Amino acid sequence: MKRTASLAERLALVVGADGVLSGDGVPGELAHDEGLSSVPRAPVAVVMPSTAAQVVEIVAVARELGAPITARGSGTGLSGGCVPSPGGFVVSFARMNRILEIDDANHVAVAQPGVTLAELEDAIEPRDLMYPVYPGEQSASLGGTVNTNAGGMRAVRYGVTRNNVLGLEMVLGTGELVRSGGKHVKSSTGYDLTQLVIGSEGTLGLVTEVTARLRPSLRHRATVLAPFASLELLAAAVPPVLASGLDPAILEYIDTLTMSSITSSGDFGLGVSLEVASSTSAYLLVMLEQVSSTRVSQDVEELGHILSKAGAIDVFALPGRAAASLIAARERAFYTAKAAGAHEIVDVVVPRDRLAVYLEAAGRLAAVHGCLCVGCGHAGDGNIHLSVFQPDAEIREGFLVALFRTAMDLGGAISGEHGIGTAKKEAFLHLEDASRIAVMRRIKAVFDPLGILNPDKVLGPDPGGAGA
Ligand SMILES: Cc1cc2nc3c(=O)[nH]c(=O)nc-3n(C[C@H](O)[C@H](O)[C@H](O)COP(=O)(O)OP(=O)(O)OC[C@H]3O[C@@H](n4cnc5c(N)ncnc54)[C@H](O)[C@@H]3O)c2cc1C
Repeated sequence: MKRTASLAERLALVVGADGVLSGDGVPGELAHDEGLSSVPRAPVAVVMPSTAAQVVEIVAVARELGAPITARGSGTGLSGGCVPSPGGFVVSFARMNRILEIDDANHVAVAQPGVTLAELEDAIEPRDLMYPVYPGEQSASLGGTVNTNAGGMRAVRYGVTRNNVLGLEMVLGTGELVRSGGKHVKSSTGYDLTQLVIGSEGTLGLVTEVTARLRPSLRHRATVLAPFASLELLAAAVPPVLASGLDPAILEYIDTLTMSSITSSGDFGLGVSLEVASSTSAYLLVMLEQVSSTRVSQDVEELGHILSKAGAIDVFALPGRAAASLIAARERAFYTAKAAGAHEIVDVVVPRDRLAVYLEAAGRLAAVHGCLCVGCGHAGDGNIHLSVFQPDAEIREGFLVALFRTAMDLGGAISGEHGIGTAKKEAFLHLEDASRIAVMRRIKAVFDPLGILNPDKVLGPDPGGAGA
């Protein structure tokens, strides 16, 4: 109790009393993220800095008191990454929410980490620019998406966060304020600290500024829905679509159970007859974007040929409203699964030509372990989102480890875009190559020698060393 008071008081000296919450003043929502299996934990305090200089002072307080820090953006993460560390406090970036510059000539936005994707989109859209990182949850913050290396539906064309962030300012666990990268699009100038911190889940540094790479908006769009009789056929259609040079902006798969649940709220006007639906196992959803309506029409025609040749039962060019509704429903698929009682969400990634093999193996493993798993995913990236239904935590864990191991055996990885956090930490430490874990621990010790930055996430404390 005494420690709580002194930590909150010390933090108030940095940001003012109105920038610190403690005790009953901490809203319950700051104890958790959106992860289905993460266990909420109340922080000792929450501090809301407004400047990078304040963040430097906050880290100095944490170092002095040995208090763990968990950074928080919008709390939409799915792996427990922003759940407060035991005995620690939260640095909320809610007040560092200014867009500092939009540079049209260089196609760059410089912003504080608390800016949400929706706020950035509102600011750049009138300038015919877009920021491609699109995890579907547009309330996510720039700092949070940087730290999870978020991907989303547009990654098939534009890549994930690490392909769209040019520079960072950050405060390391040492207390140093470091800038890396900038508005320039290339650099061969020493080690790339920006890339190291992207995806580090608040364990290496507190990001205080993001230089984001913007792209021109392509205003002419068409969306095509192709039902397939089997996941194998659907997966086999992905490489030819990508090889065609049509460069889809979205290339998603949705299995039939997921399709029925995300569209159960009404008639989406997709035009799929009952007869077609009854012989469908999964749908491929493709969005094309172009600089002119003529070119988008030509592309749709060519896409139709490719999908038909690949064995699609039919090819539907969706009317604008139907397309928008279906994409919005796909974005909300996580909440639909949550409402249906899903116990965990998996986001493994495999080389895209292994998609069908993986999904077939996942079905077999589900039967062996007595679990139900259904899903959708970023087919163009080989990134699969499975909702897992199994209330028994031990049985579920066994199934999840089998799913992760299978993805790794196929040349993939445990998480494509949601991160490790605490949700996948045990499996990660168990399955990941020991020499890679050892190098990661040494990197962690350099950035955060006292082990105060989100110490229970990703690697957790180093059993054999100080810090980390
Ligand atoms: C409905 C739904 C759909 C989603 N779909 C996708 C999807 O398709 N693709 C995808 O990639 N993700 C998806 N996500 C999850 C996605 O990871 C998060 O939306 C986002 O990346 C996290 O941003 P946030 O601001 O909410 O971060 P938080 O959840 O607050 O934090 C995430 C991590 O970043 C750290 N962090 C936050 N801010 C900082 C900072 N300034 N400095 C250092 N560390 C920081 C935290 O400590 C934590 O480890 C989805 C989530 C939901 C709810």
